[in-house]
Amino acid sequence: MSEDVSVVVVGSCMTDLVSQAPRLPKAGETIHGHRFFIGFGGKGANQCIQAARMGAKTAMVCKVGRDVFGNDYIQNFKNNGISTAYVEQTENAATGAASIIVNDTGENAIVIVAGANMLLGQEELQRALTAIVNAKVLVCQLEINPDTSLQALRMARENHVKTIFNPAPAIADMCSDFYKASDVFCCNESEAELLTGLSVTSVEDASQVGLELLNRGCGSVIVTLGPQGCVVCQSRNMAPKHIPTTAVTVADTTGAGDSFIGALAFYMAHYPTVSLEEMARRANLVAAVSVQTVGTQTSFPFRKDLPTELF
Ligand code: ATP
Repeated sequence: MSEDVSVVVVGSCMTDLVSQAPRLPKAGETIHGHRFFIGFGGKGANQCIQAARMGAKTAMVCKVGRDVFGNDYIQNFKNNGISTAYVEQTENAATGAASIIVNDTGENAIVIVAGANMLLGQEELQRALTAIVNAKVLVCQLEINPDTSLQALRMARENHVKTIFNPAPAIADMCSDFYKASDVFCCNESEAELLTGLSVTSVEDASQVGLELLNRGCGSVIVTLGPQGCVVCQSRNMAPKHIPTTAVTVADTTGAGDSFIGALAFYMAHYPTVSLEEMARRANLVAAVSVQTVGTQTSFPFRKDLPTELF
């Protein structure tokens, strides 16, 4: 079954528990909110969902708790056509959760408990080995143990599987081996700043920072720039290329970066002869659809919702 999986994501699942209230409570205080909802999140799962909705055959390698949130998350993957053969449940920690309080002016307070995500390790990767080495593209981030992400990237590279690495959330002292293990290193402005110490406020800054990251050993670098699209750096001998995007009416940008990366993974797996710049152009347009609807995974478009020129 795993032979025909084109995109494998090794990463996180988080359940978002969102309360909307007039204001954020003070320490020790109890207040009444006016809305509560549960959402599916986690960068790994988000990226996998977007790739699957584009039409990629996907498998998620992750760990959830043996609890109601874990059960629901597995059902969510199945509802999106994602293989759950490598989604493991543990008794030893709860499913990763983000408790989020949002006030009426949009400010928030968030507590993330990574829980079961941190128990994903070498043994689980070994059980998913067939899927990883037979994939076209492997995608990793940093919401799980970084050693697990690095090992997954290495397993893929050793087997000529293309890798996309999204260093999010960024860690200042990230192991330099991540660069060499990345065919495509894809980060946003703040991650690029944290990793290089250079400030990124313009397309020119992003180009410079992209070249700096390229020098650290990545195959290619993409720096995403929100409404300005992204910058693609492919080699020291080629000028970085700004890929602008279209102006849209924004409802909620949460998860835009994950939509972009999920779409990119789909294109790398299914259109390997298309240039990286063209893939980035198309991924911009997919992510631009996601920002026009509220929510994270709920805003990610399906193939049927996208213009045929993107395929
Ligand atoms: P987030 O943390 O909100 O998920 P991010 O900071 O990781 O996102 P961004 O660089 O903000 O990533 O956005 C990723 C991509 O989403 C951009 O490269 C672009 O293609 C698209 N995008 C984001 N914001 C907008 C916007 N306002 N208009 C159009 N496209 C957008």
